[in-house]
Amino acid sequence: MNVILLGPPGAGKGTQAERLGKTFDLVQLSTGDMLREEVRGGTELGKTAKKIMDSGALVPDELIISMISGRIDRVGGKGIILDGFPRTTAQAEALDKMLAEKNLKLDHVIQLKVDEDALVQRLSGRFACAKCGAGYHDTFSPPKTEGVCDRCGATEFSRRSDDNPETVRARLVAYREQTAPILPYYDEKGALKAIDGMGEMDEVFRRIREIVGTVRVS
Ligand code: ADP
Ligand code: ADP
Ligand code: ZN
Repeated sequence: MNVILLGPPGAGKGTQAERLGKTFDLVQLSTGDMLREEVRGGTELGKTAKKIMDSGALVPDELIISMISGRIDRVGGKGIILDGFPRTTAQAEALDKMLAEKNLKLDHVIQLKVDEDALVQRLSGRFACAKCGAGYHDTFSPPKTEGVCDRCGATEFSRRSDDNPETVRARLVAYREQTAPILPYYDEKGALKAIDGMGEMDEVFRRIREIVGTVRVS
């Protein structure tokens, strides 16, 4: 099964992709995570991407497309969840071409719909374990023991530099202007399934499972 999770920054793509990946044994491919890895590694791509990401704009299509194509090749036959890609019409078209060349098919394009106020609230409280990357929220999903990662026990956490109010505003504009226009692209193919992304994480996950099914497939 190959799935795209679409939605604005803070909609819960990463949160739901992780649950979906665990439940159905799929590989989560997040272009945001890949770019942050490049930034940490100090690569040429990372240096270029860092400035753009901190401004809230999108990284150029050709850089993203070559980065993700290589990763899909290395998945090794498992199903994939694309989280944060595609984000422009050019990326959506490139993905179609890529999938056709690799003999893969797209099963579901799931759009998470979340009010803008809730997005801002979600992004302003987001943090992650510095060691294992587990995601948290100050109010909505804090660790069970304050200051200790549920998953790995680490006590260091980090916040993304682009989750500040000014950059968040720019990212929401980029979503509206460059990413939302790809929704009709998938709708016309009959692939788009919009779900309500408001409410508890478990509730949102139930809505996703209604679409992808409850049976484990590979
Ligand atoms: P995205 O990958 O779409 O940017 P995330 O999955 O990182 O979004 O979620 C953004 C923040 O909101 C995180 O801190 C996460 O814990 C929190 N979050 C995710 N889903 C929900 C939800 N349904 N209700 C409340 N908070 C949520
Ligand atoms: P969010 O969780 O808020 O949706 P991401 O982690 O997906 O954010 O992306 C963070 C930043 O990385 C984006 O603001 C953008 O600069 C860059 N980025 C990630 N994915 C893409 C993409 N597919 N195309 C262009 N830029 C991207
Ligand atoms: Zn951890």
